Amino acid sequence: MAGSRFAYVRNFELPDPVLPDTHMVIRIDGKGFHKFSKAHEFIKPNDPDALELMNQAARHVMKELQGDVTMAFGESDEYSFLLKKSCRLYSRRNHKITTHVVSLFTSAYVFYWPQYFPEKPLLKPPTFDGRLVPYPTEKHVTDYFAWRQADTHINNMYNTVFWALVQQGGQTESEATETLKGTLSSEKQEIMFSRFAINYDRLPAIFRRGTTLVWGPEYQAPARSEDDTAATLASSSNAAHETVEKDKDGQDGKHDSTKKGEGEAVKPFRTKPRKPKMVLRTLHVDIIGNRFWKEPKSSQGRSREQLVETSGKSGGNVQGDGPWFDEDRLQCDGMGLRVFLD
Ligand SMILES: [Mg+2]
Repeated sequence: MAGSRFAYVRNFELPDPVLPDTHMVIRIDGKGFHKFSKAHEFIKPNDPDALELMNQAARHVMKELQGDVTMAFGESDEYSFLLKKSCRLYSRRNHKITTHVVSLFTSAYVFYWPQYFPEKPLLKPPTFDGRLVPYPTEKHVTDYFAWRQADTHINNMYNTVFWALVQQGGQTESEATETLKGTLSSEKQEIMFSRFAINYDRLPAIFRRGTTLVWGPEYQAPARSEDDTAATLASSSNAAHETVEKDKDGQDGKHDSTKKGEGEAVKPFRTKPRKPKMVLRTLHVDIIGNRFWKEPKSSQGRSREQLVETSGKSGGNVQGDGPWFDEDRLQCDGMGLRVFLD
């Protein structure tokens, strides 16, 4: 049909390439999610299962486009995906990339719905829109993600106090809106604390920080610092110290970290550090500060600048357990810069 008299219409399909050598960020956003969340009775102000479903849909995008998408950040009904500068997906055609990501995300959201809401049938098809914005520098990208996380914080604080006024304070939604009109963040915190005993800083990190997905080294429980270890070795000169590590297959593997004989000096950490396995990590940590964007200080990932979040398990308003409280989601060494590696 290529040579038919109709083929000229093809000329109306204009090219839409994204500028080369730029970082592409695609943000998808739920359409009409106010109604959608009402219809499905999502918990207010935050429904952790609904957030987890969003995270699962985003993990699907990151796995399908592994090698192209290096990082994602999500809050509420939106998710942003960062593509590598060198990405050649669809020859960098804007609409092709954007619609593909929106489609991957939406179909995964529907596909995984029963896993997160086994008791609730999906009442209507959810829809998302999407846009792609190219950013020329790394600073633009880190500022972009800081902007989204700051937005998470502002929205979460407002929603938390708003729903406390309604659910616990007996106000109508319009009365709560009126109460909060023109209030500063410190005033909102004061209302939460004095009237409802909510300590904002102890709310679950997933609500305060949103969710960051990044390909990075597998989480390892924090080890003692080298200084601590050296001190311990010095105080127990006859002890043979062993470090037990789980290897990649999850089997226990032992190796001596200190081959010490009579009169020999202690030489700890002679063994070659194990290269960590790269996994898709789900994090609820601060990405506004510089620390997230730094590489770990030592090759063994024992940065003293490790980011550690309060889980919010003890002071939050969410009952029960969930993966969002897991230790491996609440701490990481600086790992963000690897998202720029091409
Ligand atoms: Mg929306």
